[in-house]
Amino acid sequence: MTVKVTARGAERWKQGHPWIYRSDVADEPEKRPAIVPVTDRKGKFLGKALYSPSSEIRLRLLTRHDEPVDAAWWSARIAEAARRRNGITATAWRAVHAEADGLPSLVVDKYGPFVVAQLLSAGLESAREQVVEGITQALQPDGILLRNDVGVRRHEGLPAEVLLAAGEVPEVVEVMEDGVKYLAAPWSGQKTGAFLDQRENRILVGQHTRAGGRALDLFTYHGSFALHLARHAKEVVAVDQSAEALARGAENARLNGIANIAWREANAFDLLRELERRREQFDTIVLDPPAFAKTKANLERAVAGYKEINLRAMKILAEGGVLFTSSCSYHVSRDVFTAMLVDAARDSGRRMQLLAATGAAGDHPELLNVPETGYLKGVLLRALP
Ligand code: SAH
Repeated sequence: MTVKVTARGAERWKQGHPWIYRSDVADEPEKRPAIVPVTDRKGKFLGKALYSPSSEIRLRLLTRHDEPVDAAWWSARIAEAARRRNGITATAWRAVHAEADGLPSLVVDKYGPFVVAQLLSAGLESAREQVVEGITQALQPDGILLRNDVGVRRHEGLPAEVLLAAGEVPEVVEVMEDGVKYLAAPWSGQKTGAFLDQRENRILVGQHTRAGGRALDLFTYHGSFALHLARHAKEVVAVDQSAEALARGAENARLNGIANIAWREANAFDLLRELERRREQFDTIVLDPPAFAKTKANLERAVAGYKEINLRAMKILAEGGVLFTSSCSYHVSRDVFTAMLVDAARDSGRRMQLLAATGAAGDHPELLNVPETGYLKGVLLRALP
């Protein structure tokens, strides 16, 4: 089966974006998910793509060559992507970051000898066996877990499910990250078991943590920032509204022999207000909230939420103290996030020095042609005396 696209669809591929939308498909003879050859209206070959017959994103370009897309093809592409990550010393890292690695809708994360992958389109799901075989050949893991319990699969007409695709994958995997150990939960944790995208930011903040000072980690989840802070600070307060997440954090601390973290179950918004009222001060603060803007529609409210926590964090930052603040809302652009921080700095009356503007770790690259590949923004600030 060959799918034909309009001139506008073809132009998108020329400009380096792999998606062709429903409105730019001219002819789709058979509505079945597959890897299909794609041509223009006149029949000129343009490439091979993942085809999702019930998704707005109908086609995702895999290759411009007329070549078989089989297990060997997937293996070569996955191995190439993994090679681009040479030099990561942490034992958990992302080997394939979907569109940004030229493998649309495929995520492959390594947790030591295990792989946790996500197949996020119907076209890709139709090639599951070959993809799993490709991962096996390229990475030789002890097991492959598919964390296909992701909301976006709904748009593709796919079920949300967690499946063991090969070998064995344990409930818990110990990860080593710049001298800190933590437990990832491939079957049940957020994303594929941990927030790998913040790895470099955690290390950066660790380096800027005031030795012997007080630190505050808000939205700590399993404490992965708190653990890096605790190696330098005298005491760390780690806050989350989920008692279950905090219990995991405490377990991680014990694993490292770290005893200077106080785990506090609270709503971060309420706690910040209380800390401000009590005039408490912290030398190092981390803000890593969940995405406040899940859609474009609630952007304004989301930005107000970001501003509230950032403003209050600036107010309780000690002189010379450092604030790391981030947003993983795709709909909050870098510009909007920076403008919000400028606003918060003004309202707080503090002079905030910009030490670094960061994104996701290097194994989660952004492709300039595909803005959808970027979502995480981080900013490191210091309060001038
Ligand atoms: N910093 C973590 C990831 C944070 S994920 C890491 O690097 O691994 C976001 C966390 O915020 C979740 O654990 C969630 O339970 C928590 N959370 C969400 N809303 C909250 C709120 N209003 N107050 C406190 N915690 C909240």
